[in-house]
Parts: sequence; C-alpha cells; structure tokens
Amino acid sequence: MRTHNLGYPRIGNHRELKRACEQFWAGKITSQQLQQVGRSIREANWQTQQQAGISLIPCNDFSYYDQMLDMSLMLGAIPERFEPLQQTTSADPDRLTLYFAMARGYQQNELDIKAMEMTKWFDTNYHYIVPEFTATQSFQLLSDTLFNEFDEARKVLGQIPKPVLIGPVSYLLLGKEKEAGFQKLDLLDRLLPIYEQILSRLQAQGANWIQLDEPCLALDLTQAQRDAFTSAYAQLRRATPDLKFLLASYFECYGDNLATVAQLPIDALHLDLVRCSGQLSDILQTELAHRSTLLSLGVVDGRNIWINNQDQSLQLIQPAVDALGIDRILLAPSCSLLHVPCDLQNETADQSLPAEIKQWLAFARQKLDEVVTLATLLHEPENQIAQQKRAANRAAIINRQHSPLIHRPAVQARVQNLTDADSQRNSPFGQRQTTQQAELNLPLFPTTTIGSFPQTEAIRANRAKRKKQEKSQADYEAFIEEQIREAIDWQETLGLDVLVHGEFERNDMVEYFGELLDGFAFSENGWVQSYGSRCVKPPILYGDVYRPAPMTVRWAQFAQSLTPRPVKGMLTGPVTILQWSFVRDDQPRRDTCLQLALAVRDEVMDLANAGIQIIQIDEPAIREGLPLRQENWTTYLTWAVQAFRVAASGVADNIQIHTHMCYSEFNDIIDAIADMDADVITIETSRSQMELLDAFVNFNYPNEIGPGVYDIHSPRVPTVEEMIRLLHRAMAVLPARNLWVNPDCGLKTRRWPETTEALKNMVQAAKQARESVFETV
Ligand code: GLN
Ligand code: ZN
Repeated sequence: MRTHNLGYPRIGNHRELKRACEQFWAGKITSQQLQQVGRSIREANWQTQQQAGISLIPCNDFSYYDQMLDMSLMLGAIPERFEPLQQTTSADPDRLTLYFAMARGYQQNELDIKAMEMTKWFDTNYHYIVPEFTATQSFQLLSDTLFNEFDEARKVLGQIPKPVLIGPVSYLLLGKEKEAGFQKLDLLDRLLPIYEQILSRLQAQGANWIQLDEPCLALDLTQAQRDAFTSAYAQLRRATPDLKFLLASYFECYGDNLATVAQLPIDALHLDLVRCSGQLSDILQTELAHRSTLLSLGVVDGRNIWINNQDQSLQLIQPAVDALGIDRILLAPSCSLLHVPCDLQNETADQSLPAEIKQWLAFARQKLDEVVTLATLLHEPENQIAQQKRAANRAAIINRQHSPLIHRPAVQARVQNLTDADSQRNSPFGQRQTTQQAELNLPLFPTTTIGSFPQTEAIRANRAKRKKQEKSQADYEAFIEEQIREAIDWQETLGLDVLVHGEFERNDMVEYFGELLDGFAFSENGWVQSYGSRCVKPPILYGDVYRPAPMTVRWAQFAQSLTPRPVKGMLTGPVTILQWSFVRDDQPRRDTCLQLALAVRDEVMDLANAGIQIIQIDEPAIREGLPLRQENWTTYLTWAVQAFRVAASGVADNIQIHTHMCYSEFNDIIDAIADMDADVITIETSRSQMELLDAFVNFNYPNEIGPGVYDIHSPRVPTVEEMIRLLHRAMAVLPARNLWVNPDCGLKTRRWPETTEALKNMVQAAKQARESVFETV
C-alpha cells in the first residue's frame, strides 16, 4: 500500500447530485431515482480512483447533503422536533424525508419544523449541519447506509475500501448544546458504544482500514478535550483490536495536540503537509516514530487547484522515508478532495481557461495522479513515465514563475504606496450618521434586503444565451433592465425603504467581479460543493488584480433612475473575493487582498460619483478566513480589516457604506467587525435565534446594524410575530435608532412566491415595531 485518498468530490462530474436532489425536492423524481444517481456517482468516483492507481480508496465519503448530517442520522442524534418524521416507511427506507427535513426544514402536512443550523466547515466554504445535543441526549445506530455503501464499494472495486467516518470526539465538539446544564463532551460515554457497534460491524463485514477524521485536532483544545481523545481511542481500540485506524486531521498543524496524538493507539496518522510542512520533523521526534505507525503524508493540496511542485514534495517527504522506511509512508492529498473541482479534463473551451494557465492547474482527478506519480518516483525512481511527468511538472512550474500573465508592476506599486489615510473615512461615525440621516431621511427600523432576488429559470437562460453568443448584448441588457424595473416596482409595492437592483446580471457574487477584473481566470465546470445542493465555481485568481472599467455602475444607476427611494449599490468585498477564489499561492494572501481592495475602492468611488448614496460591500467570508489557531488571528484580522477599509474609505461622509456578513459566529471577532467602521452592517443571526446579540451585552457596537430577522436558507415563510420577537430581542441590547430590519442573507436561492410573503411580513413587523416604540415614548 502506497497511496490513499481521504475523500472524493461527491457532486458528480457535472453536478448530477445537485440536479437530482433538487428534482427530488420538487417532487419531480422518486427517491429511487435519486438513489440511482447517488449510486452512479459513487461508482464513477471509485473507478476513477482505482484507475488512477490509488491503493486505498475511501467509501462513505459520499453524502446526499452533508457528512455531519449523515453521522447525526446514523447515530440517531435527531432533534425532538423531527419526531413526527421519524417513522420509516417502505417508500422511504433511507429516511430521506427525515434526512432532508433536518437539513432544510419541513413545511408540509400541517407540520412546520425548522431546519438544523448550518455552519462553515473549519476555514472552508463548505457548510455542515451542526449536530444538536440535549442533556438527556441518547444515541442509537439508526441507519445502515454506511454498511451498504461498504459492500457496494467492495463490489465495484473488487478490493476492500476504506470507510471514512467523523471520529467521535470531533463529532461532539462540532455539535452544539441546545440546553444548559451539561457539556457536549459529557456525552462521550453514551456515544462511544454506538461507535463500537459501527466499527465491529464494519470489521465483521471485512473492513481492515478505517479512516477516522478528527479535524478538531487542528484547533486550540483544552486539556479535558485532549483527554477525551485519549480515552475514546483507547476504548475503540479495545472494542475492535483488529481494525486498523487511520486518524486524519487537516487544515492546520497538530501543534500542541501532538503529544496527545502521538500516544493514541492508531495504525496510521495523516498529516496535512500543505498547511503545515513543519510538523513532519516534530512528528519524527515523537514516540510514534518508534512504533510501527504509518504516516500518511498529505503533500498534494486538497484545498487549492495549483499543480503540485513535485521536486519540492519529494524533498519534503525524504526525511520521513529516511527515518521510517518507505513501507511506513503513505502518500495522499492534504485533505478530502471535496474542496476542489472534479476534473480539469472537463475544461474544454480554450477561451475560458487559456492553455498557459491550464498547465498550472490540477483538479481532484489530476491530484490523484500527482499522488500516484510521487509514490512511483519514491518507489521506482527510474520509472520512465513518472520521470516524464516530473519533467513536465518542472517545466510548468518554471513557466508559472515567469509568466508575463501574472505580473503588473503598477498594481504592485499601488499596494506598496498605501498609507494610513487610505483606510480612514473623513469623519468619525457619529458625524457621518448625522450627515447621512439628514440626506437619506429614513424611518426608524429601515427595511432593506441583502441584494439578490430569486434567480428564475428565465434569468439563468438569458445569461446562458448571452454567454453562448445566442443573444446580442443589447437584448441581454434590455432583459436585465426589465427585471430591474419589475424588482423596483415590487419593492415599492412591498414598502421597503432601501431598495436594491436585484443582482440579476450576476451568476455569483464573486465570479461576477472576477470576470470583470484582470488577474482572474474561469473554469467552465470547476464546481465545488458549498452546502447541500448548492455549488460554487470559484474564480482562479492567478495574477495581479486590475480593474479595467466600472463593473456595476450601469445597473445601479439604471435602478436608481426608476425610483425616488435610495437604491443600494452592491459590491463584493476584497476579503470575500479572496476567500471564495482559488488564490495564487506565490505571494502572501495579504498582498493579493489589498490589490482587490484597491479595485473595489475604485468601483465605490465611481458609484458615489454616479449618484448612488448607499453602497454595500459584502464581506460574508471575513470570519471564515480566520486562522484555525487563535495565535494567528490578529495578523489576519489586521490585514482583512485594512482591506475592507481601503475599499470603503475613499468616499465623502454622506455616502452610507453598508456591509453584510453571514453564516458564522461573529461574537469572538466583534471588535474587528466594529473596526471595519461600516456605517451599517446587516448580519446573519436568525438561524441561531440571535445568539449574536449576546456579544452586545458587553460590547457596545457603535454603528448601525441589521441583525437578520429571518432565515433565507429555508423556503419557510416566517410569521410577523416571530420577526417582531427577534426585533425585540435586538432592541434589548442595541439602541433602536441603530437598528435595521432585513432578512439574514441574499434571496437568490429562493422562489418569488415565498419571498414576497416573507418580505410582506417583514415590512409589517418593522411597522409594528415602530408603533410599539412610539407607544412607549
Ligand atoms: N449581496 C449578496 C446577495 O444578496 C450577498 C450574498 C451573501 O451574503 N452570501 O446575494
Ligand atoms: Zn449573506
């Protein structure tokens, strides 16, 4: 055994899973049809990995929605409110109804059940469904999916696959206590017997290796948490002495958890050497090196799309080979390949991805090949084919280092010459607020939305036609204008205070800007799962960033011409563009981010000059860029906040700068958020019932803020009462005059009917809240 893989993208080469899930949800296909799609994706993935020459191939890395949700279902950790859906029926043996209800909420048959929370998977743009725990939480083995998939993989492969499971400690640590009086780790004693059951059953089925993912080992842990790993793994070891445990963590160093890890009774340990190459020498100093434990060396970047530098990788690996012997080394990608697109070979059109850039890239399938080539070079250094690949790799690496596509001296100079004044508004917030209030004249609790409106089939078709040149630019623009006109009318009818143009011209909030900036390239099929059936196609940021022309002014200006109410200009911020792109790895991220900031700044200025008085710079990704280890936070936050301020600070006091953030915990970086000094922030809170507000008890958030009053990630229409309740909770900790009323994110994934209903209720809620304030004064 020389190589293995930690996980393969499960959306399918052409997003087959997305389509099938959405059809299933719409009632257009049966669960059997959906399951058939799942089977064929799995089969294709296993075959791809086998053909690439990977020795140990994962199973159970497939999921219809999310691997943490799979785990919750398998372990019977099903929140009580889903009780009415617990019954399995013969029509739904996989409990897909329950499963998707947990992910997306359920509003049918007179039931109204809220979805479980979703949050970012470490520092990725993947979202997992957060397990919910109660003090009396019990677990039971509820689903056979894992065991069936093991048999299925074995049959397809003709060899024994390696089941992948979230380990018990990370499973608990990634979950959430839904009531007071206990700590999630207290549940370990109740949870472990189920893991024992699972492992024993896999062992009985013939499994030999099993991959236990414990990504929490990349985080700052307390001693009690570390001890949980020690006792959990001792117990699992006793229960299944013959099963081989491959323990995997990724995205960061083991760091101060290493001493604990080195003592665990495991058979192989995976190291992410892309994020932390330094830890290899540390590991070789531990007792683990003196046992027979294998090391899985994650040398091929599972988080980015650049080709591996094979010479460098071989150098990196060598000390481990010298110390342990080649037979104790396994080569692998740094983490699951879930975070990169499937296959570069799906990129056929030369105009989207120029050949010169393409040779710098490797997607999931190519990464498998890189892993296998490295293993071949280690085991048979003279192997002809591997040598040829190595030579080609060298040539591509050198080409990328020197390519004129990448370097733009004027842009680099502009970043170099930035001064403090460039990240400073003219006046402090209080003064700006007065100026803005005088000009904008907004009511108490102004209502607004986050930017995008439902993207209908017609809108997507219009964009696709333009892309394929089947529609003239004039026709395309006329269509967009028509959408904007309708959206403005609709918002006026609803009675919203600050309008938006609706973002109908945008496929994706980052891709749209990337396409208009120099320094970006685009794949046609480079999709990556973001959550559930939602996929994103991150732009490839390969060179110095430059804005050749205004990007949004035309649409904002048109929208503003249709209404006396203020229309918000809508931009994506530098940190988010950075975070949601595949970013060049040949210069510090900070430098790339400041290049982006300058491009956004120029756009902000152009919008202001075109008469747009409110400009939103979305930074939903600022929190997820946070390093996993706290010791690295300040460095990151300093440049991230600086980048936002550079983007926002060129305008006069009367221009109201908004920002928007979603999908994270913000409590721990609330001071950095305040430091961004946006005049207004709209922020996700509704799914977590406004937990964010806890932060404001001790922290006086200085500027205006719109804590989202309803969850747009579910089709459920919120009631007026529940939104008023949330508003009142906000009013308890924030001054009423600083509060805005808005949904918690953009509405592009919703449909019009539910959106209309939801916003009607929202405007009503704001109205009633205003009245209640006037009554009390
Ligand atoms: N303005 C964007 C939209 O409404 C913001 C999206 C986001 O926060 N992810 O779609
Ligand atoms: Zn959002």
